[in-house]
Amino acid sequence: MISSEIENYVTSHSTSESEVLKKVNRETYAKVLMPRMLSGHLQGKVLKMFSEMIRPTTILEIGTFTGYSAICLCSGLQQNGKLITMDINEELEPMVKQYFSDAKLLDKIEYRIGNALNMIPLLDEKFELVFIDADKKNYAAYYDLVFDKVVKGGYIIADNVLWDGKIIFPNDKMDNETKAIDAFNKKINADERVENLILPIRDGLMIAKKLI
Ligand code: SAH
Ligand code: CA
Repeated sequence: MISSEIENYVTSHSTSESEVLKKVNRETYAKVLMPRMLSGHLQGKVLKMFSEMIRPTTILEIGTFTGYSAICLCSGLQQNGKLITMDINEELEPMVKQYFSDAKLLDKIEYRIGNALNMIPLLDEKFELVFIDADKKNYAAYYDLVFDKVVKGGYIIADNVLWDGKIIFPNDKMDNETKAIDAFNKKINADERVENLILPIRDGLMIAKKLI
């Protein structure tokens, strides 16, 4: 969304990634399919700083992938706080566990393998921060499933809501994923229970603050 010169300038004038995050980034690009799904340096910093501003006791992440965003989100956790992260892809489990161990976060992260659609309804926790970043067609379902589990004043953040810019294509030119994300954005914007903002960072972050 911004020129590569600006992006380089921004990156080189922002605190660099931790050694663990550098390793997650490097190894994901070397070993894993679709490495671009990883949040990366700038978005990771945004998530880290949001977490540090919110200071949550409990965070839910839907879509772990290789653990990059989970590690960033843990940064602002209160003492004894925890992050629950879910992913359907069991193949990444050993790698992700190693990264959580490298980041010294094994005692703060509950990493659950399975379909988030089935696992979210089983959660008893209340969350101050939820990060939705799994399959795009289910964003609206995740939002509905999680809504009552978010505290008043809590935040639901959803990634990739601009979908590589495809979100402004005319409706007959949109693929099904783009349509699902567009429907999600419209649903959040029409929901009077939240105040919302799309931040055009990387692939677009929808921030929704729960008012009730
Ligand atoms: N949050 C990560 C990237 C997540 S990529 C980061 O920023 O670094 C999206 C992930 O969602 C993939 O790992 C995929 O396996 C997972 N996913 C897709 N459908 C899912 C489902 N139904 N339940 C749980 N996870 C799912
Ligand atoms: Ca994402």
